[in-house]
This record gives sequence, C-alpha cells and structure tokens, in this order.
Amino acid sequence: MPVTVRFAPSPTGNIHIGNVRTALFNWLYALQHEGRFILRFDDTDTARSRQEYADQIAADLEWLGVHPHVVAYQSKRGTAHDAAVETLKQAGLLYPCYETSEELERRRKIRLSRKLPPVYGREALKLTDAEKSAFEAEGRKPHWRFLLPNFDGDPFSTRRTEVHWDDVVRGRQTVDLASMSDPVLIREDGTYLYTLPSVVDDIDLGVTHVIRGDDHVTNTGAQIALFEALGATAPAFGHHNLLTTASGEGLSKRSGALSIKALQEDGYEPMSVASLAVLIGTSAAVAAAPSLETMASTFDLASCSKSAAKFDPAELDVLNRQIVHELPFSAASERLAAAGVDTADPRAEAFWTVVRANIEKVPDAAEWWRILTVGPDDQAALEGDDLDYARAAFDLLPEGEIDASTWGAWTVAAKAQSGRKGRALFMPLRIALTGRSSGPEIADLLPLLGREGILARRP
Ligand code: GLU
Repeated sequence: MPVTVRFAPSPTGNIHIGNVRTALFNWLYALQHEGRFILRFDDTDTARSRQEYADQIAADLEWLGVHPHVVAYQSKRGTAHDAAVETLKQAGLLYPCYETSEELERRRKIRLSRKLPPVYGREALKLTDAEKSAFEAEGRKPHWRFLLPNFDGDPFSTRRTEVHWDDVVRGRQTVDLASMSDPVLIREDGTYLYTLPSVVDDIDLGVTHVIRGDDHVTNTGAQIALFEALGATAPAFGHHNLLTTASGEGLSKRSGALSIKALQEDGYEPMSVASLAVLIGTSAAVAAAPSLETMASTFDLASCSKSAAKFDPAELDVLNRQIVHELPFSAASERLAAAGVDTADPRAEAFWTVVRANIEKVPDAAEWWRILTVGPDDQAALEGDDLDYARAAFDLLPEGEIDASTWGAWTVAAKAQSGRKGRALFMPLRIALTGRSSGPEIADLLPLLGREGILARRP
C-alpha cells in the first residue's frame, strides 16, 4: 500500500504557520516515500466551517508548494459515518448517556476526593430501558460514548490496558486505556465530535500515516481502539511538537497576523515560511531551503524536539532575506510588476540583480525602482559644506559611457578636487543620487541611471 498521509484542517479560519507545520510534515513524508497526500477538510462543525476558508487553505497550500492528490470533505461523508455508528451499536460498543455536564463534574469531584482517577465511571451502562425512557420523556437527549476495551468481561472493573505505537516522530509511545474516559463520539444534538469521522475517513481514504500535532497524543490510544473496533488496522502515527508565539502562547486561527494569507500578502517567500515552519523546534539548523524537494531529501521527522517551539517572526525576516538575495529575476518578475516595477523596461533585470541584496522582501524593490526612475524623495539631508561639495562634484562626472568603472573614476576626481575621503567623500553623492544614506552599491546604480539620470539629480 503506498504511503498515504492527510492534512485535516477544520475550515473555521485562516491557517497559520503552526498549522502549516503539520501540512508540511505530511507533505515531506509523502515526498520521502513517493506517497500520496490528502487534503481533508474536517468540516462537520457546520456552524463554524466555511467554504471560503477551505478555498483559502487550498490556496495557501498551493502557494507553499503542497499539491494534494485528493481533496475530501468530511461533511460529504455522513453516510459512511452513520454506517460506522450502526456497526458500533450492533457490537454494543456505543452506549447512550444522559448526564448533564454538571452531573459529570460532580461525579468527577467525588472520584477525586476518593483518590480514584477522574474518569467516567460508565454509570450510563447501568441504566434500564425504563430509566432511559424516563430521561427521554423529560426531554433529555443522549450523547453516545465508545466503550473502550479496557476490561475483561466486566466493564466496571477495568484493568491496565496498554496500547503501543511506534510514533514516526516521538518513537515508542504507550498509553493505558484504563486511565481514560470512554470518549463521547456523538453529541446530544446528534452531531459527531471529531474522533469518529476522523477514524472512519482515515480508514476509507486508505490513510497509512497520521502525522499531526502532539496535542493529539492522548487521543491516539482511543483512536487505535476505535480503528480496531471498526475492523481496521490502525495506521502509523507521528506527533510533532507545536509552535507557540514568542511569549509562549499557543498559536490560534484568530491570531491573524501569522496567517499564511497575511504572510503572503506581506511579501514573504513561500520557502522562507516553509523552511521556518518545518525546521524550527528541531535539531536541524534553521536555514532557507531552496525547495520542498531539497528539504525532503535531508529532513528527518524524528529530529523534532519534544517541547513546544517558539516562533519568532524576526527569524522569518532573516530567512526571507537569504532567499531574496539569491532570487533570479524570472522568479521575482511577476511580483515586481504587481508592486509597480516596469518589468518590460530593459533595465529591469539588471536593476533587480543590483537591488535584491538590499531588500528583505520582493515588493521592497518598488521603492528603489521609484528612486531610480522618478528620483529621490529627499535630498534635504544635504546642507552646508556637503551640499557645496556635492554640487561641485557633479561637474566632475567622467565623460564617456556610464559603466561599472564610472563610480571609481568619479570619486577619484572628486577626492582630488575636494580633499575629502571615505564617508565624507561618497555619502553626499549617495544622498544626492538616492535620497538615502544606505542602499545598493552606487557603482552598480550609475549605469542604470545613465548620464541623464545622474545629472538630473544634481542638487
Ligand atoms: N481536524 C483536526 C484538527 O485540526 C485533525 C486532527 C488530526 O489530524 O487527526 O485538530
């Protein structure tokens, strides 16, 4: 069976860099094993799920270079979920419960005070048909729990029942099914909680590896039991550490600034986002990878650390700069055009090659394009002696073609006349030409400006 992974977001908001970590781990695993990647929308929460979020998630993944082989929606698979419920009911593994949350909380406290583990005591299993009818007559609707296989014959006498799996990220894991409550699979209103649809869909879609955040580790034991109760072999699992904000809070779909959409709109490169999303919180060095394929050839899921990793947006800037400094014109031109650079101008490619070393994000180039083609915004910093010096120096611009050697020859002449050197020699000229005290090499800018462009900037 080919390796089949899935990324299963709920389309209830825009995904962020932490969600994308999960998507990329799955994608890299699929690349490493020539496997398939399913994008599955966990959209059974119809009140909060929206198609526009699903569309945005699909677009975000494409932008990052993740191309799903299959797209599935849980909301369209209700028949399969209902059939699984029937199977479990027939087998006596799904039972109705009528407790309110206050009743459950009271019992939990009693158990704790008796030094018993605060798990559900399966009281509902003792209800007679008459008692159930009485609850229903009162207007109570049942929620349904899955009977965990943690006993031999008598469900009120549980015994330690270890479930093991070889986690592809964390190594050997063990949970004890007797230490947990029978999970609720169906709510009072008849809707499904995440567990049952997820397991049913993983079975039907042929998922071989479930790779997800480590907030799901404790669910895995019960899910393995559910796979088995439904006559399936559980897939392999991998649980990676989560990302938090710099101050240690969990990332949330509500923290819009870190959404993939916002990062894209801010002009970040997909590979800087992907490189950081994957490599942060691992033993691998955080560096910009040229492509997901390259990353797949070296990245090992097992290099994840066990604790949460702090996401620092400043690191994203560092990676982005590394990528932009090497980015070929062909890869940037569409976005340069969108940002206002005339990419049909014969100088555009040379301009990009000069300017990319001085910017953080591709759209930043537009400002330099404006400085080059329209003129500096501000020469005001030039005053006094510097202004006099710059004016005089403009008369010394060498004759002939403006090329890579012009700046050297120009400053030699300006130095000889003014006696200035170093910063005092070149800074007034830089400011006159660009309105800035830093930026691309002036030697490289001069051929782009041409004689006319240079002389037009005479202060
Ligand atoms: N929809 C679930 C979530 O976002 C998926 C968890 C899983 O991968 O099983 O948490």
